[in-house]
Amino acid sequence: MSELRTRLAEVDENIASAARRFQRDAAEITRIVVTKFHPAQLITDLAALGVHDVGENRQQELSQKRAELADLGGVRWHFIGQAQSNKARQIRAAADVVHSVDREKIATALDAAGEPGGAQLDVLLQVNLTADEGRGGVEPADIEKLATRIACLETLRLRGVMAVAPLEEDPAPAFARLAGYSDIVRSVVADARWISAGMSHDFTEAIAHGATHLRIGSAITGTRPARG
Ligand SMILES: *Cc1c(COP(=O)(O)O)cnc(C)c1O
Repeated sequence: MSELRTRLAEVDENIASAARRFQRDAAEITRIVVTKFHPAQLITDLAALGVHDVGENRQQELSQKRAELADLGGVRWHFIGQAQSNKARQIRAAADVVHSVDREKIATALDAAGEPGGAQLDVLLQVNLTADEGRGGVEPADIEKLATRIACLETLRLRGVMAVAPLEEDPAPAFARLAGYSDIVRSVVADARWISAGMSHDFTEAIAHGATHLRIGSAITGTRPARG
C-alpha cells in the first residue's frame, strides 16, 4: 500500500508538472488508474488513497469486480477495452463511461441496452491512429459519420474521442492528429470535448496535445500479473 501511495503521488506530480509546462489546467485532466488483471482489492486500496476513476479492458473482469465491490462508493468505472455488441448489456450495467465505441453496431447495441428517458451513458469514439485497419478504433475518414450516428442515439452521450498511440510511431505526432479528430467530433457535438489518451509511457505527450483523460496502469499499479 505504501508503494502504491508513492507511485500514485509520483505520477500525479508528473501530471501536474506536465500540465504547467504545456499551460494546461490540471483541473481539467482526469487520471484514470487502469487496474486490469489485478485483484479487486487493488481498487479498494486505490479508493482509500482518493482515486475516483478506474479503468478495465475486459467486460467479464469489469462486471466481476464491480459486483464484488458493489458497496464501494465514489468510484467511476471506465471500460477501455474492445467492446463486443453481444456484451453490450453487461458493459452498460457495469461501466459509467465506455471509451471504445468504434463502430455503429456497438453504439446501437449499447443504446438498445439503455432505458429510453433514463440516464445517458457517457461514451467516447475510439479512433485508430495506426495504419493497420485491423486495430481497434474507427478509421479517421469515418469519424464524422460515426459521430453523427452516435449523436442520434437517445441513451448515449457522446463526450469525445479516445485512442492508443501506435507502437511503431513517436506518440507526439499521433496525439497531434487525435486533437484534429477531436475537432471533427466537436463539429458534430459541440460539447464533446474529452480526449482520452496517454498511458504510463506517453502521458506527458498526451497532455501536451490536449488529453483530458489519461489511462495509466503500470506506472501506478506496478507490474501487471499475467493475463488471467
Ligand atoms: C492497459 C491499458 C492502458 C494502461 O497501460 P499502461 O501502459 O499500463 O499504463 C491504457 N489504455 C488501454 C486501452 C489499455 O488497455
